[in-house]
Amino acid sequence: MSYCQHCQVTVNGDWLTCPLCHQPLEKSSDTPVPNPYPDIPLRFNKEQVIRILMIISLATISISLIIELFWLHSAKGLNIISFGIVSMWLVLLIIIRKRRNIAKSIVYLIISLSLLSIYWDYVGGWSAWSTTHAVPMICIFALVAMYIAVRLVKIEVGDYILYLLCAALIGFIPAIFLFFNWVTTPLPSWLSIGFSTIMLVITIIFYRVEVLKELEKRMMI
Ligand SMILES: [Zn+2]
Repeated sequence: MSYCQHCQVTVNGDWLTCPLCHQPLEKSSDTPVPNPYPDIPLRFNKEQVIRILMIISLATISISLIIELFWLHSAKGLNIISFGIVSMWLVLLIIIRKRRNIAKSIVYLIISLSLLSIYWDYVGGWSAWSTTHAVPMICIFALVAMYIAVRLVKIEVGDYILYLLCAALIGFIPAIFLFFNWVTTPLPSWLSIGFSTIMLVITIIFYRVEVLKELEKRMMI
């Protein structure tokens, strides 16, 4: 049995860190108490995930720098791209660290980052860069992160299927901006809609049975 100074609780099982606060535990007795919960292994190669994220981030930054240098002659794009890259890293971090309510956390993350960019845009004198560029960027990179997670982090099919659907639906938010004409150029919104459509079609074609099974399960509750 171990004790967490921070949470003031005793912990059964062979935990090295507190399952609540992740602080190191103090051993209070030497007799090993069996783990009350079965181990749920989350199988993925951390180095591989980080390497792929690094490559995508660096490639995106280089491409946006090249586009800026040769076509736009301004440095605004990097600000916008950074929203996408940050959202991609955060989404993957949520998937890796948090095992419950992943879909909910990701929805909250995307919404809060989007609102942050819209607020930033509003404070800096509205020029619609948030609705034109930042929000579609956040949606696209969140989808990229989901895709990486599905390929590299081996979660149960039934578990990730709903995150995929969820992410794909969020990617349609920029359609609202298009509809109300809140954008200065429609391309990023269309990209986001395109990515989401592809994701939705892939999910429906390859995982139709799992989607139906999962939806049925949710309907029963
Ligand atoms: Zn603790």
